[in-house]
Amino acid sequence: MSIDVEDGLNILMHDYFHIEMPPTERVLKNVNVLLKLFGENKVRGTFFILGEIAATYPDLVKSIANAGHEIGVHGFYHDQFFKLSRDKAKKEIFRAKELIEMITGTRIYGFRAPAFSISESTSWALEVISELGFKYDSSIMPAKASRYGWPGFCKDIVRLELQNGNSLIEVPLSVVNIMGRTVPTCGGGYLRYLPYSFTREAILSIQKHRPAIVYLHPYELDKEKYPDFFYKARSSSELQKRLPLMLYRLNKKSVEKKLEYLVKEFNFKPINDIIEEIEKQGNLPVKYL
Ligand SMILES: [Zn+2]
Repeated sequence: MSIDVEDGLNILMHDYFHIEMPPTERVLKNVNVLLKLFGENKVRGTFFILGEIAATYPDLVKSIANAGHEIGVHGFYHDQFFKLSRDKAKKEIFRAKELIEMITGTRIYGFRAPAFSISESTSWALEVISELGFKYDSSIMPAKASRYGWPGFCKDIVRLELQNGNSLIEVPLSVVNIMGRTVPTCGGGYLRYLPYSFTREAILSIQKHRPAIVYLHPYELDKEKYPDFFYKARSSSELQKRLPLMLYRLNKKSVEKKLEYLVKEFNFKPINDIIEEIEKQGNLPVKYL
């Protein structure tokens, strides 16, 4: 179970309209819904936290850690790797990691890229992540999606031997094969748009081979209407931008119920626990990049 902790409104305004605003308290409310649900169902997961969120709400980071979840890093300002230079990316991630480690008082092992933005063309990011002392990355979607993906990348958890001489464990996001096509599943929009039975079948089929990696964002549980300035910015944007922003709000009311089914039906763990189990069994394959 993995959660990318960011504020939907702040990310959308930044990503789509280049309007800077601080994260809103919506993120607190939505994370608390998740913490309650996980607590009641004895679920522990990995929360990849954006540096900007940690800087604004350090107590939120503490309460996630105190509830027994693993804490990871999700970048500082949610800039995708294809928008950053190597040097800038390294500085931003370092800043987020250092801040979050200071807040939690523990070492951080895992990283997830904003919007899964590690693909073949940004594979240098894996070297940066390894150089910053992370043990694993969980950013590669081994499928072709509209804004991300690394088609052909292996589906198993793997130890990457990188060209800088470092190794880094990669925990790819889960995908399934449907009618000859590899498609992402198990989280985000896929959990929102598709019926629970689809997610359930997908997880059952993935689990025959490897652990299924479920991912979610706190904003996916946000049922409250966004403020007027968001709709104003949306309606004045071109159609190409407007369409994904309309889908973004679709079916949010269904997520809490689906998540409840998920946590009642399956067992979840933090990603680092899964890696440790695989390492103990000596079953971690190696891939040279
Ligand atoms: Zn994100």
